[in-house]
Amino acid sequence: MRAVIAGAGVVGLTTAIALQRSGIETEVHEQAPEIRAAGAGLGLWANALAVFDELGLGDRLRAIGKPAEMYFRDHTGELIHPPGFSADDHRYLLVHRARLSELLADAVGRDNIRLNSRLIGYDETDAGVDARFDDGTTVTADLLVGADGAYSVVRSLLLPGSDAVKHEGHHAWRAVVRPPDGVTIERGVIVLGEKRTRGGYVPTVDGTVYWLVNQFDAEPLHGTPKEQAAERAAFLDTTGWNPALPALIEATPDDQVLHNQIMLVPPLPRWVSHRVALAGDSAHALSPHITAGASLGVEDGLLLARLLSSSDGVPGALAAYEQDRIPHYRRVNELSKRVEDSATPEEFAANYVAFSHWMISR
Ligand SMILES: Cc1cc2nc3c(=O)[nH]c(=O)nc-3n(C[C@H](O)[C@H](O)[C@H](O)COP(=O)(O)OP(=O)(O)OC[C@H]3O[C@@H](n4cnc5c(N)ncnc54)[C@H](O)[C@@H]3O)c2cc1C
Repeated sequence: MRAVIAGAGVVGLTTAIALQRSGIETEVHEQAPEIRAAGAGLGLWANALAVFDELGLGDRLRAIGKPAEMYFRDHTGELIHPPGFSADDHRYLLVHRARLSELLADAVGRDNIRLNSRLIGYDETDAGVDARFDDGTTVTADLLVGADGAYSVVRSLLLPGSDAVKHEGHHAWRAVVRPPDGVTIERGVIVLGEKRTRGGYVPTVDGTVYWLVNQFDAEPLHGTPKEQAAERAAFLDTTGWNPALPALIEATPDDQVLHNQIMLVPPLPRWVSHRVALAGDSAHALSPHITAGASLGVEDGLLLARLLSSSDGVPGALAAYEQDRIPHYRRVNELSKRVEDSATPEEFAANYVAFSHWMISR
């Protein structure tokens, strides 16, 4: 069996590894000229680590990550302890996105990845699928996986009119930076602040620090991304207890502050056809207030590989995949919405850990 994957993000690469391990010859096509990872740090939860363990990559992944815990504080620095959950429900591994992408691309095998290769269309036949790329090449395979992110071309062809939509007013700013002189970061601090703002920082394995600021219902933005982040960092500390976050933002070069208008892919009525399947953000770009899109998305790839190796044919496996994923993400969306709609920091923290608990213990 032969598979072609559009997109070499974390989900496309992980799906490739899973398919290869199931004996499926797999080629990944990435539109960019290099394997690059937008973003800065990435929290991988226990469900994602279980996927990487099963793919034989767990140890290598832990070697490039730093264990971290997601506990929230309020804007005065007070720790919020939602009752009824264990320490495991708060634990995750923080990795640098670029290092994760390198690790995954090495595992896929660089010879199996085509760069500068943007999928522009496909034609399904009874026997397979012809995937067309912008360099004029066509690749014939038994299946095509669209792991091409929130702005997925594959999704737009499979489900015309299913464009990603802006999560109005929801923005994120982030970077990885070396702490400036005089700032020592020993542990992560994440705050649920005023004006629906969240943020803080987490140390990485190599002495740098990942800082992030998010806001729901943001007023129209003014200034540079760095100024926008600094303005909102003030909502996270109303008493001066935490000077580290503004110092980290200040120490970040302007061009290294990544700003995102958050995009969402609304729940889809279909994820597959006979020969084409969506995986990762192409099927379910989520609001990152639950910081779990990648952790959930890598499960898509493993499930797909399992179903393909245990079923008689591609169409049956893809139908089973869709049958599993649609109700699964309905639940993800319900739990995520509950977090977003939380009226107080205490409620947010409780709903957040309830989501994490559900995600890692299924
Ligand atoms: C601010 C923020 C913080 C987050 N934090 C976390 C976190 O801590 N933990 C977590 O689990 N998740 C987190 N997420 C979610 C996570 O980033 C995404 O869910 C994840 O990166 C999606 O991976 P993907 O491979 O599906 O898509 P992408 O990473 O978008 O990759 C898609 C790839 O496809 C390529 N591509 C696109 N179109 C084509 C085409 N036509 N042909 C070929 N290639 C194409 C793109 O260039 C890209 O390389 C966060 C998201 C945001 C916005």
